[in-house]
Parts: sequence; C-alpha cells; structure tokens
Amino acid sequence: MRYSRQRELILKKVAVLDNHPTAEEIYREASRECPNLSLGTVYRNLNSLAAAGLIRRVPVPGQADRFDHALHRHGHLCCTCCGGLSDVAVDETALMESLRDSIGTVESFELTLFGVCEACRAKQA
Ligand SMILES: [Zn+2]
Ligand SMILES: [Zn+2]
Repeated sequence: MRYSRQRELILKKVAVLDNHPTAEEIYREASRECPNLSLGTVYRNLNSLAAAGLIRRVPVPGQADRFDHALHRHGHLCCTCCGGLSDVAVDETALMESLRDSIGTVESFELTLFGVCEACRAKQA
C-alpha cells in the first residue's frame, strides 16, 4: 500500500472510530484492511496528520495520546471509570474574556476535565 493511501486510511479510521482512539486502537482497526501495516507507520502518519492540522492530538496525562477528527474548539471529559473521552462544549469567547489581561495573552487552550461520564453515571445510579 502506498504511503498516501495509508495516510488516507488512517485519517478515515480516526473519523470512523469517532471515540478519540489511541494509536493502537487505530492500528488494530486499520490493519484489518491493510494487514502489512506496522504500528510505527501508524504513529508516523498520525504525527504528520496532526502536524498538517487534519486531526487533533489530545494529550491525556498519564495515558496514551488520543486522536480526534473533530477540529472545532472543544474540551474533553476523561472518565475515571471507563477511561473514555467525551467532548465538552466550551464557550471560548467567555473563557478568553474571563482571562483577558489577567495572565498575559492566551492564544489557544487544551481543556481536559476528569470525572465520571454520563454512561457510567447512569450505570452507577
Ligand atoms: Zn465512563
Ligand atoms: Zn473531541
């Protein structure tokens, strides 16, 4: 499989999985269609896709990086129960407004909240 085809396949898998997959999850999914794919190739392609702004890398402290196909600004809730990552809408204007002039100039942000997701909360109830 050619390099550009692998890159396309990996980009497609990030979107299809739609659950902020890790590189290993993407590798497992993509290698079904492309059995001679290596995990190293997946990492390389994910890095170049993220650098090109086609996907977002979501760092989670103490865990493997996750990858997101949703490029609009949003934060994430990392579930301490199931380890899942869900999207959190952030009012960017209000956030920037509240920080304005107080700490310097904020250019971007990466918001990760920790807690229990709705699915896990429903199971616990
Ligand atoms: Zn959960
Ligand atoms: Zn997301």
